[in-house]
Parts: sequence; structure tokens; C-alpha cells
Amino acid sequence: MELETLCLHAGYTPKNGEPRVMPIVQSTTFTYDSTAQVVKLFDLEESGFFYSRLGNPTVDHVEQKIAALEGGVGAMCTSSGQAASLISILTIAKAGDHIISTSNIYGGTFNLFGVTFKRFGIEVTFVEESASDEEIKALIRPNTKAIFGETIANPSMDVFDIERFARIAHEASIPLIVDNTFATPYLCRPFEFGADIVVHSTTKYLDGHALQVGGVIVDSGKFDWAESGKFPEFVEPDDSYHGLIYTKAFGKAAYIVKARAQLMRDLGCCQTAQGAFYINLGLETLPLRMQRHCENALKVAKFLACQDKVNEVRYPGLEGSPNFALAQKYLPKGASGVISFEIKGGREAGAKFIDSLKLSSLQVHVADIRTCVLHPATSTHRQLTDEQLAACGITPGLIRLSVGLENVEDIIADLKAALEAV
Ligand SMILES: *Cc1c(COP(=O)(O)O)cnc(C)c1O
Repeated sequence: MELETLCLHAGYTPKNGEPRVMPIVQSTTFTYDSTAQVVKLFDLEESGFFYSRLGNPTVDHVEQKIAALEGGVGAMCTSSGQAASLISILTIAKAGDHIISTSNIYGGTFNLFGVTFKRFGIEVTFVEESASDEEIKALIRPNTKAIFGETIANPSMDVFDIERFARIAHEASIPLIVDNTFATPYLCRPFEFGADIVVHSTTKYLDGHALQVGGVIVDSGKFDWAESGKFPEFVEPDDSYHGLIYTKAFGKAAYIVKARAQLMRDLGCCQTAQGAFYINLGLETLPLRMQRHCENALKVAKFLACQDKVNEVRYPGLEGSPNFALAQKYLPKGASGVISFEIKGGREAGAKFIDSLKLSSLQVHVADIRTCVLHPATSTHRQLTDEQLAACGITPGLIRLSVGLENVEDIIADLKAALEAV
């Protein structure tokens, strides 16, 4: 079935007499008749629900829907996008291991990788997306466990050459993990280009209404963990499950089962039933919303591009953008609703512009149905030094505009008035 249909029907199919709308199963726990059955559940011999940290029927429906949207074999919701990135790596890397990531990733992920992972003993090398194949290959070490990048980088709006990085990763027998938050499976399905694992902050377009913080990890099922030879934890007995071997017991779903059975069990950063219900509500209208976000953003980008007071507009869908060719390949339906641009006059002019907006609101959020703006250098990326900012593709005067679903003429009129005030 096509994506529009999956958004409405995947993951939950009511049987005769059951609720048409996915029910919220608001229960921490589930009862069973016999200890024998509970033993099987705890030994992962049978699938079923026993405690909502590890699985809940409402959350499960949403996981199945998102797995279907991305074309994966399984998914696991998490309490936030940060938790999804964290677990996506910890499922395959431990102290002493090494990861390669593109440097223009979301500020929170940059901090997680560069600061907190370092404390965990996992070293991350950041590389520019524009680096040559040879430069990237030279960074791969015997203990490198994955390459990480964002389909559309937040907020530099660079488009990730998924196929190229997947090829480099696979030549080294390691997986490519892609943060697909800005693109969503409506605009790009990274598995079709060779990515192995996808993560999302569902907080953004998947929810889309600024209701619920959440994340998700999706497993393509395509990476051969046993053959790679670099992931002993997948092929050696797990003592915490009576010697279970993930690749043997779960085949193509080994990664996503391990993520849940080990990391969700131990770290506990789960999504709630209520939260999953909100995410599902957003997912149902994802295709319609993304279409309009893209349409509106392209019009706004074209408007901004011909303003005297604007230095640079970064929108991959804009002809003449350095990312245009990559956007044509990876984002043929549109380049999302997010635009980054630089106002002449730097920090001060940027602040004056934002303070002069009336319709667009200043908020630490992006990908909302309502138009919102943010100044990364004084908010999301505040903890980064100027050098680190530059590495993320951010200048001090950069403004991130998340174009909403209002009538585009109203959005443009608001921007126009604020530009006049600068
Ligand atoms: C927001 C965001 C995250 C982090 O997600 P949270 O839900 O805020 O934890 C990760 N990646 C990208 C690209 C984001 O935009």
C-alpha cells in the first residue's frame, strides 16, 4: 500500500466489534494465568506485553505503523529523539568503540556524541559531509561501529548523500544510521538508499502539532550483524537472557529486539500510551501536512531569496541551492518546511527581525503546524563555541524558520513587515 494509506491503516487493524480508533491502553502491567507463560515472556521465547517499559499495545501499534512507513522490519518508540539517538548507538557500541558522524547534525545530538559519549568511553569523529570518500575512509578504525548523518541537517539544511555514505559504511562492514526527522518517510525513505537504521525525533513532523516529545528507532533488517564480524554481542550468548543469541533467535530483527531487550530494559526511556496516541494522530495526516509545509516553504524561500536585507537563503528545494541536485535525488516531493537564512547585520539584525514578527512565534521548536522561528546561536546551539557553530554550518546571524500551514500570503506579509523593521 502507498504511504497515504499506511498512515491511516498500518499498525492497528480492529477486529469485529473493536474500537475503530486505536485505543489508549493506560496500564503499566498485564496479567497472566500461569507462571509458565510469564517465564516464556521474560526469556523472549514468546512475544507479549508484561510491563509498559518494555512494550505497550498502544505504543506497539505506533511502532508497527512507523516501521511500515519507513519500510523496516521493526521499530521502537522512545521518550524523545535524544533517547532514540542514544539507544541507536548503544545497541552496537560500548566503551572503547568509535563512531563517525557528520558534523552538521542537530545541536543536541552533537553534544550527546561529542561530550556525553566521550564520558561513556565512546569516541566520535565528526566529518564534513563534503569530505571525499578517501577522507572518510581514512577515519574508519578497526573499532568503528557506525556512521551517522541527518537526511536534512538541522539547521544547516544540507542534504545527506545517503547512498555515498552507505557504500562507504558497508565497505567497512558497519551500518549507516540516518536521522530522518526533517524529511519524514513521506519525503525520503533512507532504507531505499542503503541506510540500515533510521531514527526520528517524533516531536517534529511525525507528531507535527507540538503536542508530544518522542523518538523512534527503525530497523531495516538488512544489515548482516553476524557476517560483519564486528558485533560479537549479536552472535554471542546474552547471559541476561539465559544465553540467547540475537541473530539466531530473531534473524533480521536482531538489532531492534536487542535495543529493546537490553537498552530499553536497562535505560527505561520509553514512550507512554498517551504519548503514542498523540503521535498516531499526527501520523494520520502526515502526507497532507508535509505537502503543504513543502509548498509554503518553497514560496517563502523564493520570497526571502529576493529580499535586499537577506544575505543567504538555505532551502534545498530552491533552484541554485548548493543542495539542489541532492534534493532532486533524495527529496523529489519537497524539501520540508524548514528554511535557514541569514539577515544582513548579523546577530543584532537577526534579533530585531525576530522581535518584529507578529504571526510567526519565537519558540524552541521546529516542524510545527504553526510558523515558528528560532535563532540557533542564542538557543539550541548556545552551548557550542563559535568554531563548533561553524562546524555545524551555523553563522551567528542565522535564523531558522519553520514554515507552518497558515495561508502562505499571511506568512509572507509577516516576514515582509519584520524585514522592513530591521
Ligand atoms: C529535535 C531533534 C532531535 C532531538 O529530538 P528530541 O525529541 O527533542 O529529543 C534529534 N534530531 C533532530 C534532527 C532534531 O530536529
